[in-house]
Amino acid sequence: MILIKYIKFNILFCLCLLFIGCDSQSQNNKIESNGVSLKILGTVQDGGIPHLGCNKTCCKDYFKKGYSKKHVVSLGISDLKENKNYLIEASPDISFQLNNFLKNGNKNLNGIFITHAHIGHYSGLTNLGREVLNSSKMPLFLMPKMTEFISTNGPWDQLVKLKNVDLKKIFNEKPIELSEGLSIIPFKVPHRDEYSETVGFKIIGPKKTALFIPDIDKWDKWDKSIKNLITEVDYAFLDGTFYDSKEINNRDISEIPHPFIIESLELFKDLKESDRNKIYYIHLNHTNPLLNFESEEYQNVVSKGYNVAAEGLELEL
Ligand SMILES: [Zn+2]
Ligand SMILES: [Zn+2]
Ligand SMILES: [Zn+2]
Repeated sequence: MILIKYIKFNILFCLCLLFIGCDSQSQNNKIESNGVSLKILGTVQDGGIPHLGCNKTCCKDYFKKGYSKKHVVSLGISDLKENKNYLIEASPDISFQLNNFLKNGNKNLNGIFITHAHIGHYSGLTNLGREVLNSSKMPLFLMPKMTEFISTNGPWDQLVKLKNVDLKKIFNEKPIELSEGLSIIPFKVPHRDEYSETVGFKIIGPKKTALFIPDIDKWDKWDKSIKNLITEVDYAFLDGTFYDSKEINNRDISEIPHPFIIESLELFKDLKESDRNKIYYIHLNHTNPLLNFESEEYQNVVSKGYNVAAEGLELEL
């Protein structure tokens, strides 16, 4: 009898420990119900997957094998206390992304920030027009040259004329306060600026700060030190378009205007491990082996302490 009681006590004790263990683990990853959070809504380069005209293995078998859809790069920022929600980038996949982010339309969208005028980053705006959503005065946060481009070229100028959007001009390194404790700072980066300037964003929450630079020419073309900036934030979502020269048929990587993953690994190798852990490679081209987490290249990157951005991941800000 005593033995049975002793066994029962031990089982109960172990169960308690298990629950305490689970709880402390979920606390670490949990986003407070009145907190600020960031959600990854897409990770792929402008052309998406399947990429029109691609006959390589990454896209050739897409329709046959029915791979799950990966969306073009975009982030969602939520202040849960004030129920304010912001989209960073209006990608061609905006309808899937807003459905996922706003939980089937239960939440409002309070504004859209855009980095630059390349199709993966702004072409989703067409869906705000009268043919689709017919939104009313959606705040659109744009840099001066991008504001000019949207206001003076069709079909975008129709969104302005019909007041589907309300243009909010933003400026290099000038913070925009979105709610108490949540602000965004745009900063210019070097890139092919045919129609607009290109910016990255620093997103500052009450507890944590994130850097978002989906498109940039080589790190050394920038007048800022990316390594210093990484040390100042908690998360860094960085241009990881191409892994190495194999993806671009062994062309000279110095000619391609993106930092290759192998170049970034070399540049960041002397960062502290805790700083390398902050980096999430994003804006991955359809050919990038990091899209396949079973690839040797993926294993190489994560074994060095970096992350590859994954759609659906939510992080506290
Ligand atoms: Zn892009
Ligand atoms: Zn492909
Ligand atoms: Zn671009």
